Amino acid sequence: MKKYNFSAGPAILPAEVMKEAGAACVNFNNSGFSILEISHRSADFSAVLAEAEALVREIGGIGEEFAVLFLSGGASSQFFMAPMNLLDDSGKAVYVDTGSWAAKAVKESKAFGPTEVLASSKADNYTHIPKGYTIPADATYLHLTSNNTIFGTQLAEYPETDVPLVVDMSSDMFSRPFPVDRFGIIYAGAQKNLGPAGVTLVIVRKDLLGKVDRHIPTMLNYNTHIEKGSTFNTPPVFPIYVMMLTLRWVKAQGGLEAVAKNNEEKAAVLYKEIDENPMFAGTVTQKEDRSLMNVTFVMADEYKELEGQFLEACKAAGCMSVKGHRSVGGFRASIYNAMPKEGIETLVKVMQDFRAAHA
Ligand code: PMP
Repeated sequence: MKKYNFSAGPAILPAEVMKEAGAACVNFNNSGFSILEISHRSADFSAVLAEAEALVREIGGIGEEFAVLFLSGGASSQFFMAPMNLLDDSGKAVYVDTGSWAAKAVKESKAFGPTEVLASSKADNYTHIPKGYTIPADATYLHLTSNNTIFGTQLAEYPETDVPLVVDMSSDMFSRPFPVDRFGIIYAGAQKNLGPAGVTLVIVRKDLLGKVDRHIPTMLNYNTHIEKGSTFNTPPVFPIYVMMLTLRWVKAQGGLEAVAKNNEEKAAVLYKEIDENPMFAGTVTQKEDRSLMNVTFVMADEYKELEGQFLEACKAAGCMSVKGHRSVGGFRASIYNAMPKEGIETLVKVMQDFRAAHA
């Protein structure tokens, strides 16, 4: 039976990427060496790094005013690295609190300078994206989480503002086009849409750096990694290689417009079933805030006791990891770029069969 991985991350990658990565573990580029043992300063790996950067630039339309970095420490390290490099007491960082990851970013920023939360949906358990807030024109940056992996919400649009956006795109990076010129920093842990865990893609507007009045430890200074092309220390060679393969795949799909269209179609099939099937209910209160990446839903009140049975039915059909995040409960189907349509059709069939059996 074919199994589909609906996990939120580490998550599904394109089958052909995993196959090629597997072969490279044995013999990379016909070199007689594994990708796991080659030097990060070898010509072979330098070519991987160069191609990964070129693909990020091409796919995202990222110009030379931005540096493209491949760092370690996860997206969580960017929660402090961004304010450490951009913010001091002379500035002010503003945040929108759309979920647990956003709240963690706020907490770290407070250590580096004035930090204000412009809007929060915490009181509603993050079931929607707050709107209608005013962005102070003098803010150093506005931090946003583009997709809230746990709560299944996603920013439909980025705000129009001259304040540089610092955006945690971990769970929807390269799933749709974005307005590059509004961004100061984009960061994304790879383990959802980009590759395996272990590398974080960071895109930084270079002119924002070097302005804060503090000592920044060498490894935490973006300029260190810019000057050394992400090889100041040993970078995560294998995750970067797999990210490069995944980016080739994104390009071959037709780039971000094509990927976004596919993601919209896939999500629509699943949300339609959630809306039409009386056994289930969506958790996001405003439809325009629904994530195209992490689809969250619950058992309708009168069927709550069947939750465990539904998860068993999913597993029996090969739909794995549909259980919701431990802080939310219910169900979450993560349908990143690499989730094929058949995976979603299989899950929808499980929901329909469950209805036929129980409703
Ligand atoms: N931000 C978001 C939106 C996430 O989904 C996650 C991980 N699930 C993180 C940050 C943390 O990423 P990491 O584990 O790479 O530190």
